[in-house]
Amino acid sequence: MKLLEGKVAIITGATRGIGRGVAEIFAKNGADIAFTYVSSDEKAKEVEETLKSFDVKVKAYKFNVSDYEATEKFIADVADEFGKIDAIVNNAGITRDGLLMRMSEENWDDVMNINLKSVFNVTKCALKTLLKQRFGSIINMSSVVGIEGNGGQSNYAASKAGVIGFTKSIAQEIGSRNIRCNAIAPGFIETEMTADLDPEVIKGWVEDIPMKRSGTPEDVANTALFLASDLSNYVNGQVINVCGGIQT
Ligand code: NAP
Repeated sequence: MKLLEGKVAIITGATRGIGRGVAEIFAKNGADIAFTYVSSDEKAKEVEETLKSFDVKVKAYKFNVSDYEATEKFIADVADEFGKIDAIVNNAGITRDGLLMRMSEENWDDVMNINLKSVFNVTKCALKTLLKQRFGSIINMSSVVGIEGNGGQSNYAASKAGVIGFTKSIAQEIGSRNIRCNAIAPGFIETEMTADLDPEVIKGWVEDIPMKRSGTPEDVANTALFLASDLSNYVNGQVINVCGGIQT
């Protein structure tokens, strides 16, 4: 029996990187998948085809996850189309790095809206369905930067710290209804988000990682698989670091 057989999962931002890795591992493990993206139509089609090859139901939804009304419609459409929601992976995120001295208000707002407000939007809009079911696993993508902070990423670090505070609060609010809410804090994972970084900077970071390598989307996806599955039925309100041993 596959770990997610018969389950329905929502994954935000699954056209590439960690979200795509999560979608593939979930589909391989039998979950039907509703995934979102905001701009990459071609990639979304390709992901849809790949996931369907695992013999599961798949649908891609294009909208800006920081838009509350659009998220409300998305959740209603998923409930209609798939009938239930077992797992939610709030993964979509962006960076707009810069020292505070030079950070624009727009760069602050974009990061907070796409990384943090989106988590509120999806969780809040799905809440009625989850409460009715008396079941659900919510998995929020934070970052070690949300625990440690990082110079040049005050907007990103604040959004990811916010995700942790939100996760722990929701775990306390709805744990009694058999709905779990946990966060994953990835370390340095090579994806398009990190592709523009200076290779020398990357080399320095990797030297500081106890496992002496960067992580892969699959490393993070396997942790999400555990949290979405019944193997983690008593894990609630936790932040699981997937970072090769970086001290936080
Ligand atoms: P990525 O490769 O840049 O992919 C981001 C995904 O989010 C894409 O599918 C993108 O869709 C989607 N997205 C962006 N803005 C959106 C919006 N407004 N509405 C809906 N979808 C949107 O990112 P990643 O590196 O896989 O990171 C995934 C998550 O892990 C993020 O929350 C990130 O902060 C977190 N994380 C990453 C690392 C790392 O080292 N990579 C470390 C710690 C935490 P389109 O393709 O349509 O643009």
